[in-house]
This record gives sequence, C-alpha cells and structure tokens, in this order.
Amino acid sequence: MIKTKEEIFQLAKDGKLWAGNLIAEHTSSAGKIECVSPIDNVVIGYIADGNAQDIDAAVKVARNTFEGGEWSQKSPAERKAVMLKFSALLETHSEELAALDCVDAGKPITECLNTDIPATIDTFYWYAEAIDKVFGKIAPTANDVMGLIVNEPIGVVGAVLPWNFPAQMFAWKVAPALTAGNSVIVKPAELTSLSAYRMVELAYEAGVPKGALSLVCGFGEKVGEPLGRHMDVDIVSFTGSTEVGRYFLKYSAESNLKEIVLECGGKSPQIVFEDADLDAAVPHILASAFWNMSENCSCGSRLLVHENVKDALLTKLKEGLKSWKVGNPLDPEVSIGPMVEEAHFNKVKSFIDVTLKEGGKLITGGNIHSDLGSGWYVEPTIFDHVTKDMTLFQNEVFGPVLAVCSFTTDDEAVTLANDSHYGLAASFYTENLKRAFKVANGIKAGTISVNGFSEGDITTPFGGFKQSGFGGKDNGLEAFEQYIQQKVIWYMN
Ligand code: NAD
Repeated sequence: MIKTKEEIFQLAKDGKLWAGNLIAEHTSSAGKIECVSPIDNVVIGYIADGNAQDIDAAVKVARNTFEGGEWSQKSPAERKAVMLKFSALLETHSEELAALDCVDAGKPITECLNTDIPATIDTFYWYAEAIDKVFGKIAPTANDVMGLIVNEPIGVVGAVLPWNFPAQMFAWKVAPALTAGNSVIVKPAELTSLSAYRMVELAYEAGVPKGALSLVCGFGEKVGEPLGRHMDVDIVSFTGSTEVGRYFLKYSAESNLKEIVLECGGKSPQIVFEDADLDAAVPHILASAFWNMSENCSCGSRLLVHENVKDALLTKLKEGLKSWKVGNPLDPEVSIGPMVEEAHFNKVKSFIDVTLKEGGKLITGGNIHSDLGSGWYVEPTIFDHVTKDMTLFQNEVFGPVLAVCSFTTDDEAVTLANDSHYGLAASFYTENLKRAFKVANGIKAGTISVNGFSEGDITTPFGGFKQSGFGGKDNGLEAFEQYIQQKVIWYMN
C-alpha cells in the first residue's frame, strides 16, 4: 500500500515507524532500538537491534541463493526486467520514501522529494538498463585457441551505509551489486534505516529473490563488525567515516581477506581566484558548503580566496545566506534542517568553540537555534582567518561550519588545497582557461568542478584519493567493476 507523506508524518508522530531485519527463513530474536527524529527529539519508531546471529543467518541464505543460481545465473536481461519493475515501484512510492528520510535524518522534505529520491530511482533504472550492455572480451590469440575474459558476479556482498543520504547511498551500492547478480546484505546506518527497510520490501515485491537481498539493522559494533569479519562474505563495500573504514581493513586482514571498497570522508577545498565571477560563484559556493546541512562527504568546507577579492566575496556570501531558511525540515521552504542527532550536534558545536579559541574570526552564524524546539539545529557558520594548522582546516566537521583562508598566488592556492589527508572533491572559480587546466591537474581529488559545484552524476565514477577511500568507485559503469570479477577461460585444441 502506498503511504502519502502526510501519513508517514503521522506515523512518525505516533512512534509507529519500523525497520526490522529482512532475512529469508530467519526469525530474528533481536531486540529493538529507538529511532529518534532529529527534528524534535521524539521517538518516531523502532529498528531491529541486529546481532552476529542475524548476520550469520543472512550470509547463509545469501550464499545458498548465490550458489543455487536463482538470481546469479539469471541472464542479464532477466535481471534487468526485475530491476526495472523494482525501479518503477520505487517511483510509485517516491513520496513515501522522501518522507521517511525526512523524519529519520532531518533532511529537508523539498530536497528529499526533488533530489534524493529521484536520484535514488534514477540509479536503479540506470544500472537495470546498463547490465545487458556490459560485454566481456576475447583475447587476440592465434586461431587454434580462444581466450575469453568473462565477467562474473563475485558472490556475497556486504553493503555498509552511512546516515547522510540514506536512500541514495542504498541505491549507489545495491543497484550495481544486485543487478550484477550478487547476493547483497545491506547494513544501513542505525540512525537512518527506515527507507532501506521499505526499499527491500519493494524489491521483494518486484521479484528479487529474498536470499539475494537481505537487510540487517543495528549498531556498527554488533552488525557491521560481524559482517566485516565473516569468513563467507566476499566483499564489503563501505561508505562512512575514514575511522570506521580503517576497521574494515582490519576485519578483512584478520578474517578471510575479503575485498574492501572504501568511500570515506572529505575536507574538500573551494578556490576562488581573483578573476572569478563572484556573483555567479556565490550560489555554488553556498551549495557546496551548506547543502544537506553540510552532512555531505564532498562538502566544500575549506574556502580558499584570493586576498584581493576576499572581503567582497564574504559580503556576498552573507547576503546569499539570507535565503537559506533554517528550520523544521517538514516545512517545504526550509533548506537547513537539524543535525542528525545530539552527539553529532555537540561535535559540530565543539568545532565552533575550538575555532573561536584558536583565533578564527566569526563572519556569520555560530548559533544554535533555540527557537525551533528541541531539535539539533545549527546556523550556517563562516569563519575567516583560518590557517592551515587550525583544527577546522584539517578535520571533517560534517556540519555547517565553513573555514575561510586567503592566498596570493596560484601555487599557494593549490598547495593549500592539497594540504589535507583527504582527497574526495574540489571546486574552483576562474575565467582563465590556462589557469583552469593547471589547477585541475594540480589538485589531488577524485572529482573536480570548475566554475560550479558538482559531484558528477550517475554516468561518472565517484570516489576519493588519499584517505577519502580506494578499492573502487560508486556510480558510472565503473561501479560494476566493484561487484564483478573477471575470469579468463582458454579454449585449446
Ligand atoms: P560511520 O563511519 O560512523 O558509520 C558508517 C557505517 O559503519 C554505519 O552503518 C555504522 O553503523 C557502521 N559502523 C560504525 N562503527 C562500526 C564498527 N566499529 N564496525 C563496523 N561497522 C561500523 O559514518 P557515518 O557517521 O554514518 O557517515 C558519515 C561519514 O560518511 C562521513 O565521514 C562522510 O564523509 C562519509 N561519507 C562518504 C561518502 C563517499 O562517497 N565518500 C558518502 C557519504 C558519506
């Protein structure tokens, strides 16, 4: 049954939302974890408190299904038909999914309806359409032999998700992995599991076999770790913090050397050169810095500005921010909702405090919004006079606190941009083509935008350099490479 967004908002108010474990032929004895909405700090429902037994059960069913071939041995065209049906079901339920992410993660409803959920649906359509167009190869051999390079699904895939784009991150992992024929076990973030639960239900309705897709909810240590350490999981594709990414490498090294793909944090630079068109740049700079409450891995959280245009730019940014309404994300006019939870809110707040202590100059913001009830709201905040040795320059905040730093030469700008152990994304603004080529080549990051802010789209691979991750890319046909292994078969006479 389709639920409208108003019905979801009502269920949330009544504390009746639910995300249990979805594992074929397994009755979980797991307890429950409260889902607390960051909008008003109220319990909106429950998720299963999964554990190692649930992971064991999920892996067993996933392995049996994979080896049995019910999904893995279907032709790409057959899997495509099921995945297209699933995509259409997601489309029918898009308002419901948007409302779930809004109440669960505190994301603005307008963003969920217009950006996150459409992108989620597009991702599923895109991989469904692509799978029967991915060819193997034939080696250039002599005529009496034939060498085939064949693509095969890998087997049992663990997908470990963060909370910042719940539905979209589910799609980035599940769409290519499942469409390629693997059996996928999803472990959503414990803070935001509701939309994942609904999407797995819809996948079953579309005809995805239950053993090919399971959901195990719960905490990282109780569910993520047993998944990472399981001897019969072939690969874990992880998106989350660099700290937890490290754990997954350790889990793999101490278990079965499963493949690990890491999409981790960032501290992305935005560079504004002296010749930039400031008026055109301002909306992009603000979007890069504050979109999704800055709970965004590619957030442009370090603004490097040529000293001659810094004051003018800061004035324009302050002015531009006036149209960014902070408030209850159920309000369609709101573009900045609350931080996802109290602990995260406190972390963001501590960055504001430490930057003030270390000599940052507050340009705007810095306050929490006490007039918005008991949710975890932080004003978009800009600090000038941030230097490269300051805490704010080097660390991912994942909240709306922008560090501004000035430079005088192009080389200095590129050096500052690269002065980070992250390398996920970067953007810069200039009208000079020669400079654009040089700077784009000089910056060490996976995605670079010139005169705008973009993470690319479904057609282009997304992933980081340095400690932002490695092992594979999300999006693009390149994402299939994470979940496919190549086998070489020689036919000899
Ligand atoms: P997180 O690392 O805290 O959690 C991610 C997942 O790992 C969750 O499902 C969590 O339950 C699980 N986990 C936590 N501790 C674990 C443990 N000890 N063992 C096993 N699993 C464990 O990250 P988060 O706070 O959910 O998300 C924010 C982070 O994600 C940011 O650093 C952000 O930059 C990053 N991120 C990166 C991308 C990207 O594509 N590079 C995209 C979105 C978010």
